[in-house]
Amino acid sequence: MHVHVADHPLVSHKLTVLRDASTDSPTFRRLADELVTLLAYEATRDVRVETVAVMTPVAEAQGVRLADPRPLVVPILRAGLGMLEGMQRLLPTAEVGFLGMVRNEETLEADTYAERLPDDLSGRQCYVLDPMLATGGSLAAAIHFLVDRGADHITAVCLLAAPEGVARIEREMQEIGVPVNLVVAGLDERLDENGYIVPGLGDAGDRLYGVAD
Ligand code: URA
Repeated sequence: MHVHVADHPLVSHKLTVLRDASTDSPTFRRLADELVTLLAYEATRDVRVETVAVMTPVAEAQGVRLADPRPLVVPILRAGLGMLEGMQRLLPTAEVGFLGMVRNEETLEADTYAERLPDDLSGRQCYVLDPMLATGGSLAAAIHFLVDRGADHITAVCLLAAPEGVARIEREMQEIGVPVNLVVAGLDERLDENGYIVPGLGDAGDRLYGVAD
């Protein structure tokens, strides 16, 4: 697995404000959105394009456009929704599929409660959005879902990752032989006993949308 930790002062600055417990939800949503757009620039470095000719006001120029099939962006509900617009800003013509996953607080594994994805993902470049790669349960389950439908080019975009989650994705992807790219704004120290990233930023879904219990 190729792991890219974004190394840019603006990414670090925005991430620092996201971490701050006193940052309110509207500011958190805006910064998460901006951060994802910065991460999307890296995540789409190998997006498939095809050559195309255009007429400028002066002469013909050779250029490129996104190739078909269009990329598929898959936010993992609910917190991944807070990353969708930031990704679409750079990939406005991508299709969007949805995966609803909730963490079982006892097993810390992911249960799937909703799914809206194309049946056939062969040849499709897939960009999975999941803000917190903690235990790796939801991201691993999402990737298995996509691979079962034929996806073989998967990039995960996360705000923060823990080494435990990265190791799990690396191990599971090696077992099924699918290369996965991971683009993150920060790689933190560890997980705590509740599966939260330390120092992290708390519960990303709650910080984006409130507790909503
Ligand atoms: N999910 C979150 O939202 N935050 C964490 O720290 C871990 C999982």
